[in-house]
Order: sequence, then C-alpha cells, then structure tokens
Amino acid sequence: MSYLLRGLAANGGIRVIAADTTTITEEIRNRHEMSNTVTAAVGRSLTAGILLTHILLKNHRDRLSLRFKGDGPIGGVVVDAGLNGNIRAYASNPDIELPLREDGKLNVGAAIGRGELNIVRSHAPKGDEYSSSVDIISGEVAEDIAQFLAQSEQIASAVLLGVRFDAKNVKTSAGIILQAMPDVDSAALDLLEANVKAFGQLTDNLETKSLLDCINDLTWGMEFQLLTEDALPLQFNCQCSEQKALDAIAYFSPKERQEIIIEDGGAEVVCQWCNTKRWITPEQINSISANEIRCSDCNTLWYREGQATQVRADELCACGRKVELPN
Ligand SMILES: [Zn+2]
Ligand SMILES: [Zn+2]
Repeated sequence: MSYLLRGLAANGGIRVIAADTTTITEEIRNRHEMSNTVTAAVGRSLTAGILLTHILLKNHRDRLSLRFKGDGPIGGVVVDAGLNGNIRAYASNPDIELPLREDGKLNVGAAIGRGELNIVRSHAPKGDEYSSSVDIISGEVAEDIAQFLAQSEQIASAVLLGVRFDAKNVKTSAGIILQAMPDVDSAALDLLEANVKAFGQLTDNLETKSLLDCINDLTWGMEFQLLTEDALPLQFNCQCSEQKALDAIAYFSPKERQEIIIEDGGAEVVCQWCNTKRWITPEQINSISANEIRCSDCNTLWYREGQATQVRADELCACGRKVELPN
C-alpha cells in the first residue's frame, strides 16, 4: 500500500512531506511494460508530483500536472496528481533503455535530457489553470524539483527521491521534501543541511529503515512532529471510460468515421495514462452520428448530445447558413 506522511520540525520552521509510492510505481511499470530507466524516471516524477500537491494545492479537488519536456530518448514524462491521493503517470517512450552511468546508477538524467519542467495547477471548481516552468538542470528529477521550488515558488527545500529494483520489479519507490518555512531560524537550516549530507541516498536508507525513521534522521535535533497519525493512502487511479473513448472518436468527421468502420471494422482506443485498450464497435461509432446535428451545407458540428451547445440557434454557421437547433 502506498501512503503519504506530513509533519513539522524546528517548531514549525520546516515542513516535511514524505511518500512511499512503491505499489503505484510497480503498477505503472507493469501496465506500460516500462524499462528500469523509464520506471526510475516515472517513479521519481510521480512521487515528486504527489509531494508537491501538499505544497502547491489547497482544495481537495485541485489537480497538479507535472511534465518533463526534455530532448532525451524518453520523449517526455507526464504526471497527474491530486490531494485526494489519486495519481497517474506515463512516459512517451516506455521501453527505451540506456547504458548505466559510470557510478553504476540508472541514467535518468540522460533519458529525460534538457528542456523544460512544467507544472500546472488546475483549481476547483472551474478548473482555472496556473502554469509555471523552469529549465531542466539535470533531468535527475530531485534537483529539478528543488530548482523549481526555489525559482518559481521562492521556497528553499531539500528534495530526496529514489526508485530501487529487485531484478525487474520495483522494490522501493519513495520521496521526501523538507521545506523551509519563511520564519525558520538559520541554525535549523544549517542543521538540516548537515543532516541531509550525512543521510546519503534515500533508497540505501530504506533498505534497513522505515520511511518514518528516515524522516527522524533527516530532522535529527529538530523535534519532528508527525501531523498524519494515520498515513494518507495513495493510489493509482485513471479517469478514463468507454464514454471518453467514444468522445475521442467523435472528434473525427462523419466521413472519417465511416472510413474507420470500412477499413478497420471498428476502432481501438488506447488510454495513454493506463494503457487500457477499448474496442469501439461500428454500432457505437454510428451512434455518435445519431446524437449530433451538423450543418447540412458545410457539415460543421452544431450540437452533440451530452456536450454544452457549441453554437446558438439563429446564429450564423461558418458557411452563412442560419443555425437551427431543436428546442
Ligand atoms: Zn486510463
Ligand atoms: Zn454551415
């Protein structure tokens, strides 16, 4: 079971958010048959994403999307996470593999490459978006997240992220962010820096310690206070459905839809997030046409059942014809 812990140290001067995402990273690796390097990149990114929801979001229905848009062979990593603990993520090229680095570690930095780290917050209830981006500095994820928090949010923080494997399966996927609050005293910051340096790699520590033990080590001498008596559950969750698959096909024109039926005998729609494949039958494709009204002159879509009306009655269509809608 994946979970998240929150707490405070140094009399509220340092905020701590930590997550064990092992089961989620393993599920996504499995669904997309990802290589180890891609799994490490996606696991670190999704862990960062869920930790950031507790720094950047307020409302339970707000969403955070995190994207590494780099020039490396992975092509891009995308994470969608919310304060409700729901996470999903994917990489554009799930099966690429790179040689190990000289120190024997997976080369996540080269897989992601250089480019842009973009974080978008969608605020409930209207979904208003706030987007900010920074340059990718290493592609190793933790450094890039720390840089994002410093540059875009003016928050000084230590970010630790790690994914470790047991042959091909994910053995550990976890992360901790220690964030300096505006009123932190400088002695606490010095102690935090020394603690982080002495701590070493998160995945090494998790071989013998619990996540809570790791937090206690990192906040040594600063009285860590756990705020989540019960750990907050985290889960892989995709919002896709048969209706959304149909909506994707409705995007094609009636002529293109008929071609799909004639050439392929139906359509396979694959969800990019969870890799679920859905077969849409010719009857379902035809039902789209039955539920929409188009201009008889130029074929522009006027109305589709289940969607907000795209044009108003008596308005002029793109071709100049008067729009006629049923009441
Ligand atoms: Zn899905
Ligand atoms: Zn028209």
